Amino acid sequence: MQVTPHVYRHHIEEDVESFGAMHPGGSNIYFVGSPQDRMAIVDTGEHYRDWTYGILDYHQKLGKPRISCILISHGHGDHVGGLDRIQEATGAPVRCHPKLAPRLEKALGPGVVVKIGDKESIALGGGASVAALYTPGHEDDHICYYLAADSVMFTGDTVLGSSTGTVRHLGEYMRSLELLASYNPARVFPAHGGLVEDGAARIRSYIAHRNEREQQVLAALRKGLADVYDIVDDVYPKDLRRNLREAAARNVRTHLAKLVEEGRVAESEPRYVLK
Ligand SMILES: [Zn+2]
Repeated sequence: MQVTPHVYRHHIEEDVESFGAMHPGGSNIYFVGSPQDRMAIVDTGEHYRDWTYGILDYHQKLGKPRISCILISHGHGDHVGGLDRIQEATGAPVRCHPKLAPRLEKALGPGVVVKIGDKESIALGGGASVAALYTPGHEDDHICYYLAADSVMFTGDTVLGSSTGTVRHLGEYMRSLELLASYNPARVFPAHGGLVEDGAARIRSYIAHRNEREQQVLAALRKGLADVYDIVDDVYPKDLRRNLREAAARNVRTHLAKLVEEGRVAESEPRYVLK
């Protein structure tokens, strides 16, 4: 479905039984440019035959425009799964972060993968181009793409449509969010979930949410709480489900790691107990 002058969205709803919890709101593959000219594909989804055929069918429906390149947001399996067959079917070069390039080169062979430079401008077709923005945090090799012509930020897994994502490195993640906010995009088009029409506001709400969480973690530390799970109990609702409690603990750990890195919190020797 065409969603802005240069963007066509192929949405993949997921079987709630098998994927519902993994990708809230489904997944999005974007075709960007002009169907009468050339287009880029942003990400290639999970490695399932019906996903890949769905993407290639959509390409057919658009009139099979030449694919100028396949842009990768990051190297997680749900973003590069169909890459092998989609690259073969389109013959398009694959563009990705230098940290991801060796792995994709190994999978696809020589001469196919072209590294992207930070802030590089990439022409897509139909007079449209995107700026590639290195945005580590969710993952080291993450790139967001800004399509100025439509004021669209393709955020991959850095900002999602229907939930908050996981973060590997919170300090870098916060800097990446600030960078995205500085472009003041009207729209955020994420890899998962719905399209966001108040893009800049969504990015700022992500920043505010993480800052608020940091304040809560600091407040717990001030109370003398020193154990991750004690901090989780202090910061999160008491009736948190077990699997969510694990996710909350991971989240608290990323906050603590950021605070340690900033020299605001000291980590003492871990304690050991028999299982
Ligand atoms: Zn993902």
